[in-house]
Amino acid sequence: MNMIFLGAPGAGKGTQAEVVCRELNIPALSTGNMLREAVKNGTPAGLAAKDYMDRGDLVPDEIVIGILKDRIAKDDAKNGFILDGFPRTVAQAEALENMGVRIDKVIEIDVPDEAITARMSGRRVCEGCGNSYHIKFKPTKVEGICDACGAKVVQRIDDKPETVQARLKTYHEKTAPLKDYYKSRGKLVTVQGQNEIEETSRLTLAAIKG
Ligand code: AMP
Repeated sequence: MNMIFLGAPGAGKGTQAEVVCRELNIPALSTGNMLREAVKNGTPAGLAAKDYMDRGDLVPDEIVIGILKDRIAKDDAKNGFILDGFPRTVAQAEALENMGVRIDKVIEIDVPDEAITARMSGRRVCEGCGNSYHIKFKPTKVEGICDACGAKVVQRIDDKPETVQARLKTYHEKTAPLKDYYKSRGKLVTVQGQNEIEETSRLTLAAIKG
């Protein structure tokens, strides 16, 4: 099954993608993780993307579409995938269609902005594998160390409050229109994401299987 996880920054797309990937044995393709990796490695795409990311803006479509296109062509995505954080603009959704990628379901994880702002300060991410954590709601077993790969777990630069506000604004302006885009194609399912992680996982899996 090919799926898109849609939602505001901090809605829990990455966290739920990890759960669903384990359950269905398909990869989560996170453009945010790919871009952070590109920045870390100083690749041309990473150098071009960094300033946009630090400001909380979207990286230009052509850069992200190029990265996603290469990733989706890999063998492990042949039996299905979850797109986490892509598409984020109507132009990106159209690019997916033009690539001939079939999307079966779009799961929107809906969380009010107020809850997002409160959540983001405790969010942490693994520098190695990109797994997501939260100091209160999903702590690592050993403080500061990723359970999955043992690398350091850090706060993202773009998770500071001013940048979170900019990212939310960008989400409402550029990404939220995708809800109507996929609704009109009969693909959108909305899951309430403001409760506990396990409850959201239950709703997400039910939405996928239903
Ligand atoms: P995320 O980890 O999904 O929150 O993404 C972190 C940052 O990477 C975003 O704030 C954007 O600057 C950039 N980014 C990730 N995915 C996309 C995308 N599909 N289109 C444009 N920018 C993106």
